[in-house]
Order: sequence, then structure tokens, then C-alpha cells
Amino acid sequence: MIDYNPEMFFPHEKYRDQQKETIQKIYQGMFNGKPYVLKAPNGTGKSSIGLSSTLPIIYEKGKKLVYLCRTIQQNDRVIRELKKIKKKQSFVSGIAIRGRNNMCINELFLKDNPSMKELMQLCQRARKTETGCKYYKSFFNKDSEVENDYSFSYNDKLSSIIEEFSSKIIDTDELMRVCKERKICPYYMIKIFLSQVDIVVCNYLWMFHQQIRKYVFLEDLNTTLDDIILIIDECHNLPETVLDINEEQISLNIVQNCSRLLEKYSKSLAKSIHYKDFQQFGKVVQDYLENVEKSIFLQLEEKKKYITTEGSIDITGGLKTFLDLLNIKTFEKFGEILESAKAYAISIHLNEEIETSRKLRNWLLLFINFWSHWLKILSNKDLKKIHYTGYFAKLKTEKMQLYLHIKPFSPMRYILPVLKNNFSSLHMSGTIDTEIYANLTGLNNFKNGYGSVDLELPFSQENRLVIIDLDVTSRSGERNLEMYGKYNQKIKEILEIRSGNTGIFAVSYDFIKNLNLIKLGKNRLEYIIKNDCKRTLFIEKRDYDSFQNAEMIKKFKRTPKAVLLGVFGGRNSEGEDFPGKEMETVICVGFPFAPPSPYLDKKEEFFDSKFNNNGWKYAKLEPAIRKANQAAGRSIRTEKDIGVIVLLGRRYRDYRHHLSNWLTDKGVLKYSGENYGKLRNLIMNFMN
Ligand code: SF4
Repeated sequence: MIDYNPEMFFPHEKYRDQQKETIQKIYQGMFNGKPYVLKAPNGTGKSSIGLSSTLPIIYEKGKKLVYLCRTIQQNDRVIRELKKIKKKQSFVSGIAIRGRNNMCINELFLKDNPSMKELMQLCQRARKTETGCKYYKSFFNKDSEVENDYSFSYNDKLSSIIEEFSSKIIDTDELMRVCKERKICPYYMIKIFLSQVDIVVCNYLWMFHQQIRKYVFLEDLNTTLDDIILIIDECHNLPETVLDINEEQISLNIVQNCSRLLEKYSKSLAKSIHYKDFQQFGKVVQDYLENVEKSIFLQLEEKKKYITTEGSIDITGGLKTFLDLLNIKTFEKFGEILESAKAYAISIHLNEEIETSRKLRNWLLLFINFWSHWLKILSNKDLKKIHYTGYFAKLKTEKMQLYLHIKPFSPMRYILPVLKNNFSSLHMSGTIDTEIYANLTGLNNFKNGYGSVDLELPFSQENRLVIIDLDVTSRSGERNLEMYGKYNQKIKEILEIRSGNTGIFAVSYDFIKNLNLIKLGKNRLEYIIKNDCKRTLFIEKRDYDSFQNAEMIKKFKRTPKAVLLGVFGGRNSEGEDFPGKEMETVICVGFPFAPPSPYLDKKEEFFDSKFNNNGWKYAKLEPAIRKANQAAGRSIRTEKDIGVIVLLGRRYRDYRHHLSNWLTDKGVLKYSGENYGKLRNLIMNFMN
């Protein structure tokens, strides 16, 4: 019998400081099912710690490890570590799985750029018909005697891929390449491996979307939650991500499409039960949203300083107002209308597909599902307390899109059932307030508590300088042309001295737009970077997909003296590593409080009631601090990195006690502006 122990699974030759004892501590605690929080800044090797402390447990106890990351790049890093471990222990098996939208190769469906949900619907239907998806057909049992048998069969094509990959740690890119060559769906190919491997690397959605976990993921893994050990990497993202995952939305575009279809079929389906009521309800919702849209356009035209792009709708009163207009007296009646509408939603959709000879999204069903969800929450007083309903507008590829949405407040509702029922979990982050995290996730509800380890940044203080500049602020009342100009001058001052690659992270894309206002003339940020400082500028775009962004970042890293301009909380200020010369200076432009929003205000109220009147801290301050810590940490990734981090904004001084210790250590943190010295002098002194 093998005596499994953490050393067997440590992927490197030597341990770094703090690693060996941390691994032992976590291993012993988790062996008995205790969850752990590991606060581990850059350079502590947290993936190695996570894997070496949990792998002996899964092999000893016959469990599976599910390693959750946020981005594809983070998944790839874990796969690289697993490959190293496999060289030591050949029995280790693992795979990374991505979402259907990243793995689907059906060009026909992808060309309309469907959302995740829409692609799922298209794929679901395609798999049920012989003509549906040619890449799925390869899985069919061609010799089956059963009519319409579209179940998997282990034919030669499949078996050869399984044979080729089953002895490896499966690299998703490689598997996708092979599947594309052999014209077989990689998404369903990966699912075949899921039940066979011991370690699965994926994003949070697989575990924290209730339906996906229950009806897809656990079934594919062929296991139950109590046989799973979870690692949640960059876990500071988990509370907000689960709320996003479980948010329901419907766009004005969808509502308009529904109205169009209902009008088109109004004659032929007029006698269908509740057809008229349903059609009129669609029209009322459309009118409401179009009025909201008009008012936003008006504000934009009038160049109002603050544009109201969000509004709450009372879950009961709002729906009642709509129904009163139609003389629908009760919510029960509305429920009946929605129920009857499902039948003609399906028949209209089928008809449309035949008419257009195209696979189409079922707009009507999306609309019905959204309102059924609204009704479900409205009818349950506990659910009502923890949900927000309203509208919001967002700029998607420079065009405004208006949505209705239903968003939960309480991350614990989605996280705790997973944590309570799995074997054990390890939560890892470099920027986490452990107490807040434990409250938000429900870890503090565990009878025997949770373990925690807080590691120090292992790099010398002499290698970093952090400056808070007090001359500028991003406070909304003080945002004006003069302030934007001041920000640009500060950035110029830094770029003139620090010639290496630089990351500039601003509070929002709108703020970046304001730093580039034409009225600023030669004091515009882009002009300064390109002309005064002669630097190559790379600008992160909010509508880039992950591949476009990855291409841009590759070029940035290869270009000497380049400047990357992005936002806090974006892909590059959080998910990406820039070691060594890839980013020597980070400039944080403004303090990243989220813009005021009715959702956040309600969330604050909810957290006030839960956490001893600390709602503001939980809903607003902690997310801002986390974004600042993350962005600031981009430049110090290894012990050799020498980084300058400039925090441009007075509020950094007010909230400095909440920032990561490594940013505020004595001897590291300096101030410039106001009565302090010049920014330039501080940087020059550090460099000399
Ligand atoms: S079966 Fe695969 S390739 Fe076909 S639509 Fe679904 S995910 Fe895309």
C-alpha cells in the first residue's frame, strides 16, 4: 500500500520559505475535513501549496480534486504544475475544462456570437436531431438498432483520442486541436474524460451554478459532493462571481423580438389560451423599457454630468403596475398566462426556424423564463429579501443595451451548500480579508470552525517603493477638467523617469475617456504617452473577448518601454502576471470605488442587517480595496522584481490600513504632493 504524503506531490526541487510547514498544516487540517483559508501573496507558490496539501488526501481517501480558477490562463498554470507532479507520480491524472462557449467549434452557431445560455439552448436542440451538429454526430452509435439513438458510443474515432490522451495530464488546447482535426466536438470529448480523471481544473460556474453543478457537472464527474475536495483559487472573486452567475437578465432587444413574433402570429394563434394577455404584457414591458431608453438618450444628448443608467423596480409593485394596465388582477393569473405561453413559444419558434432555415434563439422562452423567475421570487418572502430587481444599461460594442435583471445579494446562499456538503475546501488568495470572506461565504458557520494561514510577502522591502500621491482625487464631486489634467501630469512625471514597461489602471473606462478629452489639448493622456514620453501604448478594450485581450497582452509584453492602459477589476489588473521587465511600474489612477448604484445601496442595506451595520464595508469598501491590491500587485511577482507602485488619489491615505501589508510596510510606503515631497524626487531616490 502506498503511504501518500505531501512530499510525494510537491512539484519543485526545493521548498520556498514558509511552504513546507504551510503544506503540512493544511494537509493535516483538511485530512479531517476542515476547510482552510490560505492568504498567500505573490511569490509564496500557492498553487504548489494547494496541490501538495490536497493530493495525498484524495489518493488516500479515494476522492476527486476540483480546482477552481477564474481565467483560462490560471487554468493553464495549474495544468503546468500537474504535469510536473505527474513526472514524479505517474498515476496522477487531470484535465482542465472550459465552458461550452470556449470549446464549441460549430461555426454556424458561433457566427451570431450567442451568449452562454443561448449557445447552450442551440447546442441542446442540435444534439437531439440528426442534422443538428456535425461535430456531435461523431459520438453517435451508428450501428444502433434503436431509432433516433443519439447516445454516445465508443467508436474508433473516439477510442483513438481516448487512448492518445488518457495517459497524460490533458492540455485543453492540445485536445481541442486534435478534436478540430478529427471533426469531433471537444466540449463533449472532454466530458468523456471527466469521470476518469482524479483532478479537474475549471472555473467557478461548474460548482456554483446550482443547475450546472447538480444536473451536469456532478453527473459528468460521476461522483457526489461529499467525495470532492475543492480548491478555490483567487477566492476573493468568489462572493461576487456567484452573484453574477446567478443573476437573470433579459434585454430590450429580446423583448422587442418577442413583441414582433407575437404580433406576427396574432391572427393564427389568436384563439390560443391567454395569447392576447401575453402579447399585451410583452408590449407593456417593451413600452416601459423604451421609455427608460429614451430618457437615457436624452441625458446623453444633454451631456448631463451624471447619467442614470440603473434603476430599481419594486419586485411586487413593479409587476403589479404592469398587470394593472392589463386588468390582470392576481399574480396567480399571471402565472397561468406564462404557463400557457410556453406551448405557443415552442410552436412559434419551430415555425420560425422552418421559415428561415436557420437555428434561432427562442426569444419567447427566454422572456417567459425570466418572468417565471421573477414570480417565483416574489412569491417567497425569504427569496424576496435577498434579491434585487431593476433595469440597467450597458455599453456593448459602443451601442447601448438595456436590460431588466434579477440579482441576488447573498453569496452565502449559493456558496454554503457546496462548502457544507463537500469533503473539504481550500480557499486561496493573495488579497483577502479573511474575516469578511468567512462571513460572506458562510465559512464562519462551521461548527468546528475553519483553519487559516496568513503568509508574508517573501521579497525584500528594498525592491519596492509605494507612493500615495495626495494632489489628486477621483472623488466624483471633484472630477473636472483641471483634475483630469493634473492626473495626466502626474502620469507624465512618472513615465519620464520610469522607462520600463508600465501598467496604468484607472477607475473606469469612462474615467480613461475623460483623461483623453479633446478639451485637454496636448495634456490628453494618449498624447502625453505617445508624443511626450515616446512610448508604445496598448489600450484594453471593454468589448475584447479573452482571445483578443490575450493577443494584445502578448504584444505588450514583447514591446520594450510599452504602456498598458486598463481598468481596475479588469482581466489585466487581476488575472494576468507581469513578472520582471513585463511591468516594472504600476500607476493606480483613482480609488476604485464602484460607481453609485441602486443595487449596491440595497446590497449595503442587506449587509447592514446581516453584519452588524457594516454594510458599507462589505458592499463597497472591501471590493474597492481588493481591486486596488490586485492591480498594485501586478509588478511584484518574483523575488528579483524591482517595482514602483504609485497610488494616485487622496483616498488611498484614508483607507491605507485596509490595503495589503506589503504595500504599507514601514520603509516602503511614502507620500507625495500636498506638504510632502515631489513624486519625481521620491522615485529618483529609490532608483539611485
Ligand atoms: S455539440 Fe459541440 S460543437 Fe456541436 S454545438 Fe454543441 S458544443 Fe458546439
